[in-house]
Amino acid sequence: MSTVEQQLDELEATITDELPAGVSVTSVAYEGPELVVYTRDPKRFAQEDDLVRGLASRLRKRITVRPDPSVLSQPERAREEIMDVVPEEAGVTDLDFHADTGEVVIEAQKPGMVIGRGGATLREITKTVGWTPEVVRTPPIESSTVTNVRNFLKQEREERREILERVGRQIHREEMSDDEYVRITTLGCCREVGRASFILSTPETRVLVDCGDKPGAEGEVPYLQAPEALGAGPQNIDAVVLTHAHLDHSALIPLLFKYGYDGPIYTTEPTRDLMGLLTLDYLDVAAKEGRTPPYESAMVREAIKHTIPLEYGDVTDIAPDVKLTLHNAGHILGSSVAHFHVGDGLYNVAFTGDIHYGDTRLFDGAVNDFPRVETLVMESTYGGRNDYQTDQDDSERKLKRLIREAHEKGGKVLIPAFAVGRSQEIMLVIEEAMREGEIPSMPVHLDGMIWEATAIHTTYPEYLRDDLRSRIFHGEDNPFLADEFNHIESGEERQEVADGDPAIVLSTSGMMTGGPVMSWLELLGPDPDSTLLFVGYQAQGTLGRRIQNGRRDVAVGDGRDTVSVNMDVETVDGFSGHADRAGLENYVKTMSPRPEKVLCVHGDERSVQDLSSGLYHDHNVRTFAPKNLETFRFL
Ligand SMILES: [Zn+2]
Repeated sequence: MSTVEQQLDELEATITDELPAGVSVTSVAYEGPELVVYTRDPKRFAQEDDLVRGLASRLRKRITVRPDPSVLSQPERAREEIMDVVPEEAGVTDLDFHADTGEVVIEAQKPGMVIGRGGATLREITKTVGWTPEVVRTPPIESSTVTNVRNFLKQEREERREILERVGRQIHREEMSDDEYVRITTLGCCREVGRASFILSTPETRVLVDCGDKPGAEGEVPYLQAPEALGAGPQNIDAVVLTHAHLDHSALIPLLFKYGYDGPIYTTEPTRDLMGLLTLDYLDVAAKEGRTPPYESAMVREAIKHTIPLEYGDVTDIAPDVKLTLHNAGHILGSSVAHFHVGDGLYNVAFTGDIHYGDTRLFDGAVNDFPRVETLVMESTYGGRNDYQTDQDDSERKLKRLIREAHEKGGKVLIPAFAVGRSQEIMLVIEEAMREGEIPSMPVHLDGMIWEATAIHTTYPEYLRDDLRSRIFHGEDNPFLADEFNHIESGEERQEVADGDPAIVLSTSGMMTGGPVMSWLELLGPDPDSTLLFVGYQAQGTLGRRIQNGRRDVAVGDGRDTVSVNMDVETVDGFSGHADRAGLENYVKTMSPRPEKVLCVHGDERSVQDLSSGLYHDHNVRTFAPKNLETFRFL
């Protein structure tokens, strides 16, 4: 008998002892980080909700109670009874019964009304029907990504459960080593921006944090073949943690599965969905540009199937000696600072991923309050000594003025933007300005993946700033549903907009390196009354940067035609998703507790050096500006 089986037998005996007489336990099993307890008395657990709480604190585990299949009521009957318990205003759109686990997935427009105060309605459901309810939000804007991911996971339910059981056994295996150390190996994004990837290792465990590509340098991937990473075989890695969905952090996660990795990915639910959207688009773009994609779309599905979603603040066992907690990073939807607690009070490391320290319209600022942190691995994108950004209020004022001026001339405003993050921030500025009469009301057309990315934002309002969240909760006030917003679905529609009245167009790609923004440039470029408005960083070598620098004759189509850009070309910065130099310093300065060591990564040579020496001199922490493939030993 394996040790995990012994462990489960002992747990079952302990749980039976702890529970009041007459409450049965039919089996216990690990599913990923959770301990699942099957019982013939689910209604008792629902009635006395301190039973689960008591077990969880006694056993120090996350516990899920599920009904034994023998006590389940018929789905047809349960459906009617659930609909009687749940208030009509919840807007239930789907009920999906899974007899194998006794779970019923309830999809509703207002999940809060299905949950009830302190979970009261959920308990009422179990008390009535015995099934364990799980609630998901019906996307307020239809999202093909969310629908596809949910359908796919439903279809793969059985295999997913096998994966979770296997991962559960891995996490709860007996520790083999008495040795104690913590190491970090840098596999990418050191003294460069792009291909973020690190290995956190202990004698027992290896965790890969992020696995991104390097935009504009497709051949340069993280050093995955290093002995600390996949060099010793795919089973060398216990877990993958993804901080956020941007491709420079996520693009090569599916590649791990092509190399034979078969373990879990821990990330937030919105990051999982955005990763699906962005990596599939990444394959699409590679194919269109005639490059061989590094993996097939089947590998994206593998990644989604292996994802174990975590909520901010959940402390989760991911290995016998490692606990992971994700915290809001304020950068894009679902973005996280990943905090690792190693051993029993042995050592703590936090990886910032990409952060924004101040509040924005979309998100609260990044969390920098932890129980303990000895080492911080920190992004340095704007770490250079002069990397200060315009105040967002000033940026918004300038944006509104330029929109008003274009409208007065009867022109259009074309804004190239990334699908995720900046687009939604700009949408919120425009929606408020129109509502308050600061700019004239006019159609705002969204092209490329912006609409889909916005739909994903509205599916997960819990991850947005609280005032925005409550507006989405009260459906009628959802700013993303304002009448002015229109989803562009065809080339003809673009032509109509170009021939029509003043309007605003938000379109991908953000640096004009392809995508529908190229069609818009062809249509609107020659119009001197229209404005081309940059709101994001334009990298060296991109068309956006060339136009910013004064280029006015631009090749379009297959490069055979040129278009003259007679539009006004303007730049409004200050909408970045990254902290600027002051934000990065404040993040460390106000961090609780102050870390002993900071590794400055994810920035060009100058930025990491500047930030590293700045933090060392002004804030009295030991700092490093590592190169790729360095290993640091802590402890
Ligand atoms: Zn990012």
